[in-house]
Amino acid sequence: MHILVTGGAGYIGSICVEQLLDAGHTVTVFDNLTEGHRAAIDPRAELIVGDLQKDGEIVCAMKSAQPDAVMHFAANALVGESMENPSKYFRNNVTGGIHLLDAMVACGVKRFVFSSTCATFGPPERVPIDETLPQRPINPYGESKFIFEKILRWYDEIHGLKFVALRYFNAAGASGRYGEDHRIETHLIPNVLKVALGQRDNVQIFGTDYETPDGTCIRDYIHILDLAAAHMLALGAEASAFYNLGTGGGTSVREIIATCEKVTGKKITVVEKPRRPGDPARLIAASEKIHRELGWTPQFQSIEKIIASAWAWHVANPGGYGD
Ligand code: UDP
Repeated sequence: MHILVTGGAGYIGSICVEQLLDAGHTVTVFDNLTEGHRAAIDPRAELIVGDLQKDGEIVCAMKSAQPDAVMHFAANALVGESMENPSKYFRNNVTGGIHLLDAMVACGVKRFVFSSTCATFGPPERVPIDETLPQRPINPYGESKFIFEKILRWYDEIHGLKFVALRYFNAAGASGRYGEDHRIETHLIPNVLKVALGQRDNVQIFGTDYETPDGTCIRDYIHILDLAAAHMLALGAEASAFYNLGTGGGTSVREIIATCEKVTGKKITVVEKPRRPGDPARLIAASEKIHRELGWTPQFQSIEKIIASAWAWHVANPGGYGD
């Protein structure tokens, strides 16, 4: 198939592009390169530099690529920033997304895979979180993705646009060639690994008084290659659907730091800080639905292997993509 990938220069997008190409698909990347990196785009892919805010640009790209399907990763994804600048999140994640869907309708493209998030649920009533739990986002980032999920239902009903929305939990790790390099790094694992690389003095732990065994937050870390595999399966889905995507296991902040010490052989200095606003104590996915309906099973259940793949990439690319 020919896939148009928005945000193909970003962390998750770039690795999905690589995996799509390895599987024999043709890929056109559409990216404005504000968050992503040119060097993160597999040279086998065609790149169209464009902005989803400008509807004419995505219509032109869609017309010239004539893809069979679209994978949509381009978005802003920082919870804290969304609490300060909600307009940016609703413009880019909702309005930009509508421009993309309208370009698909105009060009007769009917298949869509969407990067959604567990942030659409807000603090859950129980874990693991399955697809039947109510969605009550507590920040503009989660709300913007939830709004777009609702928009997708109507484009399916009215235009026959078939979609799969994948609600990621905590994406982590790297492929051999591509990894995680955000211009502003807020995520736990890369921040800990930067301490191991000597690029930061310490890592802060946000909250040590949660109701968890060691007092720190528990998250479900999923290997980026398992995430990419789910996208591949989603391309072949027969019906529109929403799926939660995690391993079903949980790792605390302190456990992540201890595993990073083991994997890197370096001592990580920690500084305990108050809770970060908007952080639920536990987020763990129930992924039985995607297992049952699309046959997805995570290959990397071990947090040590996930961190080892991230560490290998950071050691090989200490300056990230260098731009
Ligand atoms: N966290 C932390 N120190 C950091 C970054 C994150 O203690 O430097 C915590 C954060 O509060 C959360 C967990 O680690 O409980 C995972 O955070 P991350 O930002 O990686 O992903 P999120 O779960 O917010 O999507």
